[in-house]
Amino acid sequence: MDNEKEIVFKCPVCGGNAIEAIGNNAEVITGIKKIVGYDIEWLPTIIGECPEIYYQCVKCGYIIQDNQGRKISDDEDLIDWLKEEMTKRTALNMVSKKDEANG
Ligand SMILES: [Zn+2]
Repeated sequence: MDNEKEIVFKCPVCGGNAIEAIGNNAEVITGIKKIVGYDIEWLPTIIGECPEIYYQCVKCGYIIQDNQGRKISDDEDLIDWLKEEMTKRTALNMVSKKDEANG
């Protein structure tokens, strides 16, 4: 299926491509290994269950937020955000390639 493609994170700030899940008390819960479709494959380093988490870039600590500036705290919202970012990146790539061809 087309939407079973792996979803890749690219930090809009530092370009890093690893996400970690952070708990309420700012402890690192775990990192994300891979996202395919709507399945998140976590790294085998889960410290504990945490009811409320948010996601950030491992490299620079950029916190992933929705359009309203709220921290994304749900796997599905995270995946929707990632998909939107990927679409934006693809669109940008296409524009810059077109410019190169024309220039
Ligand atoms: Zn970053």
